[in-house]
Amino acid sequence: RMLKRQMMCRGDIHRLNAPLLAIYESLIPPEEERTKQKQLLALLEKLVCKEWPKAQLFLYGSCANSFGVSKSDIDVCLAFNEDINDKSEILLKLADILQSDNLQNVQALTRARVPIVKLMDPATGISCDICINNVLAVVNTKLLRDYAKMDARLRQLAFIVKHWAKSRGVNETYRGTLSSYAYVLMCIHFLQQRRPAILPCLQGMEKTYNVSVDNIECAYFDKVEQLSNFGSSNKETVAQLVWGFFNYWAYGHDYTNSVISVRTGSIISKQEKEWTRRVGNDRHLICIEDPFEISHDLGRVVDKFSIRVVREEFERAADIMQYDPNPCVKLFEPY
Ligand code: ATP
Ligand code: MG
Repeated sequence: RMLKRQMMCRGDIHRLNAPLLAIYESLIPPEEERTKQKQLLALLEKLVCKEWPKAQLFLYGSCANSFGVSKSDIDVCLAFNEDINDKSEILLKLADILQSDNLQNVQALTRARVPIVKLMDPATGISCDICINNVLAVVNTKLLRDYAKMDARLRQLAFIVKHWAKSRGVNETYRGTLSSYAYVLMCIHFLQQRRPAILPCLQGMEKTYNVSVDNIECAYFDKVEQLSNFGSSNKETVAQLVWGFFNYWAYGHDYTNSVISVRTGSIISKQEKEWTRRVGNDRHLICIEDPFEISHDLGRVVDKFSIRVVREEFERAADIMQYDPNPCVKLFEPY
């Protein structure tokens, strides 16, 4: 392993740049999908407003954070100005309203960890999940979107990583692997760590955006247009970054002691966060600090079996990027 850690990037890495960019391009949603999403949101707003005139709808997740690939579902948050104690009641009412407007497959999942209503809109073919008062997700969606505006390489890297994770079956939280949100944070952190850095640490700068959600202060520098040249002294290409990303998670990361933290733009220790012991089901085998809910480890879904699966997939990807004659096919082969 030590030998491998010092290995040099393959000599013909630049040859992989065009095919990786072509994969990225093929995943970008066409403009008509945006139009359809807006159409569905407008319909939902009309229906919700009749019942709850003061409530608001927000898009969050990949349809709003700029990391959404073509044909993704959309995530919607129904926000009330007050705390809602009984979300089930509201979700059941909402499901009723949606059903009577001919939306299809309407289901209220009131007992899920994040309770939602699911539906499919036959007019646009789009599926949608609606949750209640999940304002923190709306705010972390904005943080991800703001990072994406700063350097095109973040979106390229994250699309490729998400596509790899979905192809390889390691983007399934219910089976102990990581969420898309976790993978995007891993990409942001990785680009904060390059030398010269490709991304800054927005939460470590002057706070131009500041909201308080569930007693958590969410604040960071959001005037990112002012930083559009930030990463320009780093000339690495997406091929080098994909290679570096997998190599880091395969052979560079210290799983025993380290927590990656986009909030601080650095690695912090498990010790410092007291994430060294298993508490309940939280094992902290791979530690990814949520940028706002800092007691929350996005790796907590990973158990002693799935950690092996995830790490073996990182190693497989790193080895393919290093040695395979045709990495752009092999990397995304269905598992
Ligand atoms: P996909 O394209 O795979 O649907 P996504 O960006 O929508 O990707 P999800 O993992 O489905 O990602 O999560 C949707 C949103 O919910 C995230 O963007 C984030 O705002 C929020 N979210 C998801 N998981 C968590 C979590 N564990 N803690 C806090 N927020 C989360
Ligand atoms: Mg989603």
